[in-house]
Amino acid sequence: MHKPIVLIVEDNDLNSVLLTDLLEVGGYVTMRAHDGEEAMSLVNAQQPDLIVLDIQLPIMSGLDVLRWLKDDEWLRLIPVVVVTAFAMPTEERIMREAGCDEYIAKPFSTRAFLQVVGQHLPRPPAYLHTV
Ligand code: MN
Repeated sequence: MHKPIVLIVEDNDLNSVLLTDLLEVGGYVTMRAHDGEEAMSLVNAQQPDLIVLDIQLPIMSGLDVLRWLKDDEWLRLIPVVVVTAFAMPTEERIMREAGCDEYIAKPFSTRAFLQVVGQHLPRPPAYLHTV
């Protein structure tokens, strides 16, 4: 069984590295994009199994990326976990109406984050041993 590939779309380098480490310890293969356009080209080049999406991004917002994904009959099948630092009820409603599968507000526990991701992906063997 191949390790699921998770695309991390996050413009903040520290957050991006933290999410990468967390997901790789969890047994996933990761790709990183730093803005919405880079996210779109990576999705087109190598369809990830799940996308972790920040909302505040340069060039193209997380909401625009989400709408682009959910407008496509095939790309819409990729689960999207929105991770946000500015959780507000209105924002959560907008992202859920646009089709995000999960909405997680920072700060969150590493365990809770991996559980949410794991609900949408087959668990890689490493997950059982390291978390
Ligand atoms: Mn951001």
